[in-house]
Amino acid sequence: MLTVPPTTQPALPLLATVARLLSSDLVFVDRMHDLFGLLHEAVQFYDARLIYWPQTAQPGAPREQIGTDDGWHEYWIDDLTDLAVQRGAPVHTSIPFEKLLDDPADDLPAEIWYYGIPITWNEQTWGVLELRAAGSAAFTAAEQAFLTAITPLLAAAIAIEGGDSMLPVLAQRVDQLTAEQAHEIAILRQELEAPLTLNALLMKLLHWVLDATGAEAGAFSLVDHDRGELVVQAHTGYPLAGATPYGEPRRRLSWEQGLVGKVARTGRSLLIRDVNREPDYQPGSPNVRAELAIPINADGRALAVLVLSSPRSAAFGEGEVAVAQALCMLAPQPLRRALRYQELLETSTQLNQVVTSMPIGLALLDIQGRVLRHNPAWAHVWGIGELASDELFHVPWDLVPQILARLTNPMGLNDFCANDQSSPTDVQTTTIRLRDPHQELDVLSVPTRDSLGQLTGRLWLVSDVTREREADRLKSEFISVVSHELRTPLTSILGYTELLMAREFAPAEQREFVKTVYDEAGHLSQIVEDMLGISRLEAGSIKLNQWVVSMRQLIGEMTAQLSHHLSARHRMVIDIPNQLPPAYIDRDKVKQILFNLLINAAKYSPRGGEIALSVEEADTPTPDHPAGRFLLVTVRDQGMGIPPEDLPRIWERFYRVDNTNTRRIGGTGLGLAITKGLVELHGGRIWVESTLGQGSAFMFTLPIVTELMRP
Ligand code: ADP
Repeated sequence: MLTVPPTTQPALPLLATVARLLSSDLVFVDRMHDLFGLLHEAVQFYDARLIYWPQTAQPGAPREQIGTDDGWHEYWIDDLTDLAVQRGAPVHTSIPFEKLLDDPADDLPAEIWYYGIPITWNEQTWGVLELRAAGSAAFTAAEQAFLTAITPLLAAAIAIEGGDSMLPVLAQRVDQLTAEQAHEIAILRQELEAPLTLNALLMKLLHWVLDATGAEAGAFSLVDHDRGELVVQAHTGYPLAGATPYGEPRRRLSWEQGLVGKVARTGRSLLIRDVNREPDYQPGSPNVRAELAIPINADGRALAVLVLSSPRSAAFGEGEVAVAQALCMLAPQPLRRALRYQELLETSTQLNQVVTSMPIGLALLDIQGRVLRHNPAWAHVWGIGELASDELFHVPWDLVPQILARLTNPMGLNDFCANDQSSPTDVQTTTIRLRDPHQELDVLSVPTRDSLGQLTGRLWLVSDVTREREADRLKSEFISVVSHELRTPLTSILGYTELLMAREFAPAEQREFVKTVYDEAGHLSQIVEDMLGISRLEAGSIKLNQWVVSMRQLIGEMTAQLSHHLSARHRMVIDIPNQLPPAYIDRDKVKQILFNLLINAAKYSPRGGEIALSVEEADTPTPDHPAGRFLLVTVRDQGMGIPPEDLPRIWERFYRVDNTNTRRIGGTGLGLAITKGLVELHGGRIWVESTLGQGSAFMFTLPIVTELMRP
C-alpha cells in the first residue's frame, strides 16, 4: 500500500490569516496572543512564548517576552533560547525536566519536547519563537515548515513594534483614485498654474488635502538639506497653544526626530496608524492618533513634507494615502516656483532693511540724475525735508536750491554733477561743506548697470563725516598747540637755567632770570591744568562745591591777584551794586571763570584799553535762557573783537581764531571751552557779543540764592 508522505507545504490559507493578523491594527501583545491561538490550527503544542528584542534586534539588548496564558511557564530554559540564537537555526530537543530540577512539580510530564526557532530576517535576529509539547511525536516536519514560514512575518511585526516602528506606505497608483478624485486633482493642477506666494500655495494645498482625506489637521514643512532641518511653513487645524511645533511660524526643527524628519531624510512616505502603539513617538499635537507624512520630491529628494494628522486611529486608509500622494506628485513644480518667488521676496526684503537702516544717504539716480529710489537717511543727511516717494527729484537741479544758502562752495557740487555726466563710467568722490550748522559730507558716486551691463545711472552714497573730520582737526590742533604752547615756555626755561648754570650773575640779574623761569613754569603748569580740566569736564567728573557767596566779596578777593596781571597795561572798571542777592556757586570755579574771561580781555586788547566787569540781577536775560532770576556778569573789553564766522566756534576746545594777531598772542584754545563748561555746570549760560576792531562783551549767568536755599 502506498503511503502518502505528510505534506511539508504550510497550510496557505492559515499563513494568509497569520500575515493579516500580524499586520493588523491590534496592539502587539494581542496580536501575539491571537497568533498563539491560530498556531494551534497547524501545530500541536502545549505552551509557547516569543522572546524578542524590540529596539535594536540585537540579542544583547533587553529582551521582551510574550507567552501563552497557561503552561509550564516557570520552567522555560533560557539556555535553549540562546542556543537557537547562536546557531541561527531551530533547536529541536527533549527536556527531561525531573533531571534538571531539584523539586519538579507533580503535574509535569517526565519529558517535554522543545522546538525553538530563531526569527531572523536580513541577517538580523529579531527574537526566538519557542513551543513545547509532551510526547515524542511533537513537531513534525510539516509543523516545522509552517513555523519556518511565519518567522519573516514575525520579524516584520517585531521591527515595526520596536524602534523602527513607522510603517512605510507604498506609492499608490493614481488609478486607485476615484473618478471624482481624479477630476478634482485635474482642476487643482490647473489652479496651481497661477502664480502664488509660498504661503498661499501651501495653504491652498493644505485645505484641499484636508478636505479630500478628512484629516483634521495638516502641515507643510520645507526641508533644509544643508542644515538637516525642517522649517514648518504652513499649518492648519493644530491647537496653537502648548508644546506643538506648529505654534510659531517658520519654526525650525531637527530632522533627526519624528515622522516628518524621517520622511524628509528618506524621501519616502510613512504612516502611523495609531500613535498609542508607538511608545517612543511624539506626535506634533497631543490629541493626534494617526499621522501620515508624504514628501514632495524633486530631483530625487524631499523638497517639503506634508503631514496629515487625525485624532482617529487608522484614519488613513489606502484611499486617503492615494489622494494625498496624488496631491504631492503635482506639487513640486508650483512649489519650486513659489520658493523662487519667496527667495526673491526675502532677498529684496533683506536689501530693503539694510538700505533703510543705513546711516549713509543712498540714492539711485537715472542717467538724467533723477532720484529713482532713496533711503530715509538721504534727505536727512542733506538736511532737507523728507521726500515723498512719488516726488520727482533731480540731482543737482532740485538739490542745490535747497542747500544753496548753506554751501560754502556752490560751484563744487555743480562741477561734481557735471563730471558724473561727462564721464559716466567713472567712480567719483568729493567732500561738500555746509554751514549753519557746520557739516562735512563725503559723496561717492558710482555708476550702476542693469543685468545686461548697460549703464542705468548712478548710486550716490552720502555720509556725514563732520564728527570724524572734527576729531581729526582736534587731534592735529592738539598736537600743534601742545608743540607750540609747551615748547615756547620750555625753551625759555631751558635757556635761562642753562645760562644760570654756565656762570655767576649779579644777584639782581640772577633773580630776574629765576623769576622768568618761575613764570614760564607757571605758564606750563596752567596749560597742563587746562588740559586736565577739559578732560575732567568732558568726562563729567567735576563736581561743584556750591555755597551761598557774595559776588562783591569774591571779586574783591580777586582784585589783588588780577592787578598783578592786568593793571599794568589796562584800565579796570568794576561795577557791582550794593544790593545784590548772593549767588549759590562754587567759589573756586567762578574765580576760574572770571579769571579766564579777564585774562582773555587783557590778552586780546591793546595796551591802555578799558576792561569793565559788572554784575547785575537779571530776569531771564535772553529769550532762550532758562526762565528765572539770575546774576548776570559781563566782561567787556575794547580789544580786537572776534570775526562773526568764528563766533559760534570759539567755545570749542582747541579752537582759536586764526590771524596774525592771535598767532602772535598764543594760547591753547581751551580757556573758553572750560569756562563754558563751568558756567553750564552751575546751570547758567554764557554768550558773547563782539564787533571786529571795537571790542567784545562776554556775558554769563549764575544762580542766585532762592528762599529755599537759605539755611
Ligand atoms: P586762547 O585764548 O588760549 O586761544 P580761549 O578758548 O580762551 O583760548 O579763546 C578762544 C579764542 O577766542 C581765542 O583764540 C581768541 O581768538 C578768541 N577770544 C577769546 N576771548 C577774546 C576776546 N576777549 N577778544 C577777542 N578774541 C577773543
